[in-house]
Amino acid sequence: VIKEEGRNEYQIFRHSLKEGVKEQLQLEAELHKAMQNHDFDLFFQPQYDLKTNRIIGFEALCRWFHDEMGVIPPDQFIPLAEKTGLIIELGEWVIYEACLQNKKWQDEGLPKVKVSVNLSAKQFLQRGLVNRVSQILYETVLEAQYLEIEITESMAMSNEYHIIETLNRFSELGVQVALDDFGTGYSSLQYLSQFPLNKIKIDRMFIQNQSEQNIAIVKSIIHLSHALNLKVIAEGVETEDNLEFLLNEQCDEVQGFYFSKPVAAQRVKDFVDF
Ligand code: C2E
Ligand code: MG
Ligand code: MG
Ligand code: MG
Repeated sequence: VIKEEGRNEYQIFRHSLKEGVKEQLQLEAELHKAMQNHDFDLFFQPQYDLKTNRIIGFEALCRWFHDEMGVIPPDQFIPLAEKTGLIIELGEWVIYEACLQNKKWQDEGLPKVKVSVNLSAKQFLQRGLVNRVSQILYETVLEAQYLEIEITESMAMSNEYHIIETLNRFSELGVQVALDDFGTGYSSLQYLSQFPLNKIKIDRMFIQNQSEQNIAIVKSIIHLSHALNLKVIAEGVETEDNLEFLLNEQCDEVQGFYFSKPVAAQRVKDFVDF
């Protein structure tokens, strides 16, 4: 019975996201409360190198655990957090928590891998971001090479000069940079070669719908990335077929439900011989 109720509230909640200023304000208040109550947590999804078959990192993905509504996925609260500015505080917490957790795994003797963190546009454009990240690395005693940030094409378009400068400073710090959801935005090829990036992430829509066009697009992205000396990772790998195709095309890395869904931090140890 409780579950049913929960589901209904969840429906109402989803509905409220789309419309109603009042509901929006309510949700905003909930979001602030969640921040104070520490109702957020990170899940982690493994990423594999196709040459070595080894895990090379985990993407940290934020979850909101609401008392009545249950687990709320990021697509439903990140945009609101971004709009209200709460993303600054939340985003900083995500970076801190991801670094702390990665250091913890290292201290427990697990092989050293990267942790990858998504940054929203507002967060990326804030003053003092690089200093704050540098401070977080110092506080958590995590070496910079084990942190990766993911930015998206849409933010890469907004303020070219500032972006390049910020990316250069991340690069000097030793933090890795990946361009997320590649192919869904409007990146010009010139930006791609100008930005100091380490990796391109092919958006999962190109992987999952294997139309003739998408196959051609994936092939080109892989060639382009390699020509620019960038690593390339495919997200949304769900099937053996997806994997075989990417192996054939010399894709460097993969991530997706075929290997694992995002899991809680304590379950990361279960990943055999990673
Ligand atoms: P993203 O960065 O592109 O992350 C990948 C999303 O695809 C994740 O959804 C992941 O669970 C999902 N995914 C991975 N493999 C598969 C697969 O094989 N099949 C399918 N159908 N899905 C797969 P999630 O965790 O719901 O996150 C959605 C988006 O929310 C993320 O997309 C990212 O843009 C944003 N996000 C998540 N956490 C954070 C955060 O801490 N900060 C910011 N700014 N954004 C975040
Ligand atoms: Mg991502
Ligand atoms: Mg993505
Ligand atoms: Mg995304």
